[in-house]
Amino acid sequence: MDIIVLKPSATEEDIRHIVKKLESRGLRVNISEGTERTVIGVIGDTSKIAEEEEDAIRVMPGVEDVMRILKPYKLASREFKAEDTTINVRGNIIGGKKIQVIAGPCAVENRTMLMSIAEKVRDAGASFLRGGAFKPRTSPYSFQGLGEEGLKYLAEARERTGLPVVTELMDPRDIEVILKYADIVQIGARNMQNFRLLLEVGTRDKPVLLKRSFSATIKEWLMAAEYIMSRGNQNVILCERGIRTFETATRNTLDLSAVPLLKQLTHLPVIVDPSHGAGKWDLVAPMSKAAVAAGADGLLIEVHINPEEALSDGEQSMKPAAFKKLMEELKPIAAAVGREI
Ligand code: PEP
Ligand code: MN
Repeated sequence: MDIIVLKPSATEEDIRHIVKKLESRGLRVNISEGTERTVIGVIGDTSKIAEEEEDAIRVMPGVEDVMRILKPYKLASREFKAEDTTINVRGNIIGGKKIQVIAGPCAVENRTMLMSIAEKVRDAGASFLRGGAFKPRTSPYSFQGLGEEGLKYLAEARERTGLPVVTELMDPRDIEVILKYADIVQIGARNMQNFRLLLEVGTRDKPVLLKRSFSATIKEWLMAAEYIMSRGNQNVILCERGIRTFETATRNTLDLSAVPLLKQLTHLPVIVDPSHGAGKWDLVAPMSKAAVAAGADGLLIEVHINPEEALSDGEQSMKPAAFKKLMEELKPIAAAVGREI
């Protein structure tokens, strides 16, 4: 038994009773109030509940039905919650009709550069600013990010432009400093299965942008989301950023079929990062259009004033003019699939 569906007439007292019963079995609960009805998600090893006990719960006051979810992820599944999850970040709704575009440099390199990019992406129509202050670089000798100094610049850019800020958390030891400045915490591809990190962000209520690992199946990715949600934080945004295949002509292979598939499997918002997916700036526009057509709720795009001089990911970064052009070109595509941008 994984879900207890309540009758519309269920009282607070009925709910308390049910919760107490489950907690006495070492289980935890997640209460989700949908537009139609309230359901109690049971978290933990539900195999501990014997069939007779399940039948006893079925006849408790306020209970309409008890069900099992066959998928290994539960809170993240559509079976648990039929309606799309929407996440409100400073008035910007992720997962609603509007496609949300997150844009900015790979890394925060210096103050002047960040302010300038922030203004340009805002003017082009982006609704979030991104920028890494802690960078997961392949080489320990590459630029590792500015740390808290970079976070301060992001906060200043938010003040100036009104754009909420997305930045990566790599290490549980940095969580407090990241939470002080970020509006959305990014978990990078390399940390998608860093379960301690996932549990840590799961205990907070700050929205989490969970990037797909380049070697993760969709099931593993949803299990990573489940780790976060199992601790209470339901504000998870999935981000497809390309997976590793035999193909080396592009940096990764952007798996766009993941978007409509995830829409069937989960209620969580799904966004696409064609910058890391393709690895080449001139592939970003066509893949962004394809992502919108495929039903993505948003895009994450790297933009740099001077990509030739970028300290990371210059090859895949668009210049502001190309980004502005793309934002215009996306409008009719969004409209064609019943969305706006
Ligand atoms: C990034 O967003 O700059 C980044 C490092 O992405 P990923 O974790 O997808 O490689
Ligand atoms: Mn990058």
